[in-house]
Amino acid sequence: MKIKTVRRSIQIFVFLLMFIVPVLNIFEIYFIKGTFYSIDVGSVAMADPLAVFQAIIASKSFTLTMLVSIIIPVMLVFIFGRIWCSFMCPYYLITEMVEKFRNKLRLKPNKPKYSQENLNKTNILRLLFLLVGLFVMGVSGIPILNLISAPGVISSQALVMVKFGYVTFEIVFIIILIVMEFFYYKFWCRYFCPTGSFLSMLGLNRMMKVKKINTDCSMCLRCIKVCPMVINPMEDGHSIACNNCGDCVDNCPDNHKRPTLKYVIK
Ligand code: SF4
Ligand code: SF4
Repeated sequence: MKIKTVRRSIQIFVFLLMFIVPVLNIFEIYFIKGTFYSIDVGSVAMADPLAVFQAIIASKSFTLTMLVSIIIPVMLVFIFGRIWCSFMCPYYLITEMVEKFRNKLRLKPNKPKYSQENLNKTNILRLLFLLVGLFVMGVSGIPILNLISAPGVISSQALVMVKFGYVTFEIVFIIILIVMEFFYYKFWCRYFCPTGSFLSMLGLNRMMKVKKINTDCSMCLRCIKVCPMVINPMEDGHSIACNNCGDCVDNCPDNHKRPTLKYVIK
């Protein structure tokens, strides 16, 4: 089975969950409640590590509950890397739908070409944006990065919409991102998203990475062409930009002959 089939199934499930959870809550079923900032499933609490980090800096204190709430997300990142982005984030699913729509309209591809120099610049810009955001947040005491967390905003808007029948002004942020996405390929995820950047940093030494395990590959470069993060999977599977989406593994034609480009766990 293709990794993308599993990935898409999980993405759709998570997307639907954003609407199912508030519906359950309306019927007073509270087994699961919350948004992608923080969600409770039974007695298990899970929170966005960046949201918790901001809360710790803003309040200059931390509680055991805060730390416990990030255990599962952080463990997932330590093992699988930034799979939140490629397998779960509702905004990432939207970017993939935008790309499909663009292809249907036969619009000129807006995906930049891979180059190591561009990759370095992209990584630096993302980290700088995160650092500046954390600095402003530390000075102002306002967790502003939550306001520009695409998955957080989308899930809280879904909750408000289902529970109260309207959306708030924050939806404008998501609309702007989607419109920009039509012109600049995955620009938010590749250049700016603080949530993704924070997870990248946590997953720097992740156990699961993409690796070329057979040097005798046909060098068709298909993996580079399909990589949504515009990196070279053959060399940069360890890069902080990789979100372990598996598209390169799915599309490597040499994998049909012998294991060539694969996920490896070390
Ligand atoms: S980078 Fe941000 S918006 Fe993009 S998939 Fe990751 S969390 Fe979602
Ligand atoms: S290197 Fe492969 S797994 Fe990583 S983002 Fe690119 S296509 Fe996805």
